[in-house]
Order: sequence, then structure tokens, then C-alpha cells
Amino acid sequence: MPLCVRCRAKEAVVYQLHTGDRLYRVCFISDIIARVSREIFRYGMIRYGDRILIGISGGKDSFVLLDILSQIYDPSKLGGVTVVEGIEGYNMVEHLEEIRRNASQRGVDIHVISLKDLWGASVNDMVRASIAKGQRISPCTYCGIHRRKSINLVARELGYDRIATAHNLDDEAQKILINIMRGDIDRLYMNHPLRPRLSKLFIPICKSCELQLKTLGSARTAFLRPGTSQYGASALLS
Ligand SMILES: [Zn+2]
Repeated sequence: MPLCVRCRAKEAVVYQLHTGDRLYRVCFISDIIARVSREIFRYGMIRYGDRILIGISGGKDSFVLLDILSQIYDPSKLGGVTVVEGIEGYNMVEHLEEIRRNASQRGVDIHVISLKDLWGASVNDMVRASIAKGQRISPCTYCGIHRRKSINLVARELGYDRIATAHNLDDEAQKILINIMRGDIDRLYMNHPLRPRLSKLFIPICKSCELQLKTLGSARTAFLRPGTSQYGASALLS
């Protein structure tokens, strides 16, 4: 294996496709942390002293976000929120314990909220009711809207200034391509970090590709959730 292009001391273990760089594990992690910091600064996503609530699903993207933010920002100003959607086999009790353990290792408290407790119905309940009415609404629509509403609610009630959710470059690229194919200029515009927002309680973080997050994630944490829920196939259509 060639040597890492940064430190020129260790063997490279990661090939970074978009830069053509081959990097040693530690240099690769530093590179991602530096890029996330740069993007946050560039778009003014966080102001000094902000309390930030991180959406933590238990998937790799959200763990990487938690990990990075706890390194570049005061962990006492961070909190995590995990939404129990009520999708069978998706939010398991052992996942919640692992999420709490991972967060507490980084000095971050986790708030757990359940859609059933908050809105009176889980995603499974909503999907069942929708099918019974003959509607063809994607489960991800119910899930996405209620998750976002619930996280906003918790942030406001607990006095957080910002919400951070993880987006990786693959997801962002997929959204852009779908919106180009649909000719949906408004949605394309809404993807920009500095777009006008209905709520200021939202921080998008992206700029890293799926493969990189997998590598970084497996280097630092265990991923707790399956990549997709039982509604995974319809997620692509939402
Ligand atoms: Zn290196």
C-alpha cells in the first residue's frame, strides 16, 4: 500500500474518491472533522454559545455527527434526541441503551421521545389507518413529518437554539438528481444550507460520502440500526 499523502509516515488505508487522496485512518478522520468544521464556519451554522440538539437515529450518519460535534464544540452545550417511530423491529430497547451509552461517553445527554406518546399514533398505526382508508401515502412521509415536528417541539421546550441532523453526500446528491429530473427548482433551492427556513432550528450537515462515513463510523462506533426500516423500499420514492 502507498503511504498516506498527509503524514507520509503510515500506510494509507482509505482512498478518498473525490480528492484522489490515499489516507491513513487517523489522517482520514482528521480530514473529515476539519471539513465539517469548515462547512459549519463557512455557512455560520452555529453561533458561539448555541445549545444544539442533535437528531440521533442510531445510524452511522448520526453517530458520526455526534462524534464530530462533541469534538469540535463544547459537549455541555450538546444534547441528543432519539425518536421512537413505532416501526416494528426498528427502534429496539437495546438500541436506545447503546445510543445513550455512546452519547454519554462523549458527555452528551439523550432525550427519547415516542411518536405514539406525543401524537397518539406510531408510524405503524398511521400506515395501517392510511391503508384502511385506501390512501397511497408513503410511510416515510408520515415518519419524516412527525419526526421533524417532534424534534422541533423538544428543542423549543428544552431551550435548544439549533437542531443538527446528519446528511451525507450520497443522500444530498440523490436529492439533487431527483429534483433535477423532476424539474423541481423550488426543492433544489431548498437544499442549500443558507436557504430561507420556516424554522431557524435546523442545521444541515453534509459533505461526506457514504463510503467514508462507513469507514469512519466503523473506526469509531458500532452502528445500531439497520440501514432501512421495513418501509425501506418506499423511502426511495418519498
Ligand atoms: Zn497520514
